Amino acid sequence: LHPHADASVCGSDAVATRLDRVRSVIADACERAGRHPGDVVLVAASKNQPDHMVEVAIAARHLVFGENRVQEAQEKWPAIRSRRPGVELHLIGPLQTNKTAAAVALFDVIQSVDRPSLCASLSREIAKTSRHPILFVQVNTGAEPQKSGVSPADVDRFIEDCQRQYGLSISGVMAVPPVGQNPQPHFALLAEIASRNGLRSLSMGMSGDYAAAIEAGATHVRIGTAVFGPRPDANLLNQPTGGT
Ligand SMILES: *Cc1c(COP(=O)(O)O)cnc(C)c1O
Repeated sequence: LHPHADASVCGSDAVATRLDRVRSVIADACERAGRHPGDVVLVAASKNQPDHMVEVAIAARHLVFGENRVQEAQEKWPAIRSRRPGVELHLIGPLQTNKTAAAVALFDVIQSVDRPSLCASLSREIAKTSRHPILFVQVNTGAEPQKSGVSPADVDRFIEDCQRQYGLSISGVMAVPPVGQNPQPHFALLAEIASRNGLRSLSMGMSGDYAAAIEAGATHVRIGTAVFGPRPDANLLNQPTGGT
């Protein structure tokens, strides 16, 4: 069955049911960890999802979304937001320096701050506008060469530079552990980095591992397929395959 056909056919009920299931998994994980469910933010990763899937999630009272590409978000969100003013939008994918202005204008939270040139650019844009997105530093916990994020060895220094050199206030850290590895050591490493830098927010955990992430202290889980079902191919939506 084609994933896009599947999404259109089972649409709204399926998303509402999946959201309920995810919320209850979050509640159970919080209970096991002695945490309050209100302390964990579910960021629904809506990349490649058409507007109607997002609308269905909003109708099921879900208001926090994450997008990976600035351009896709620019095409999708202004219209949805004009109808749904309560929505909170997170950037969870890499940010090119030339898209900083657009990202500051559109996103409430930018989770992928990862290099000095981006800090400089964010700092300029924030000074120019009245917008102050919440900022997380992305950490490449597996030190994978092709992946974005600051390496664990450099992250303390980077966070300090963000604040001292660029005047950016950093609220948390985010990581995407290597595919196919046990994510637990990566969750523990990210939690340790947040703790020793005095940062409260911890964005980790996806559809396959968010319960474990919550038990390791996640304050933000980014969940796509467990909320929306299988992701449509980016090409079907006429989206450019941008990114970095
Ligand atoms: C797509 C994506 C997610 C969600 O992935 P699922 O496995 O579908 O839950 C989370 N974080 C980032 C950075 C992503 O790109």
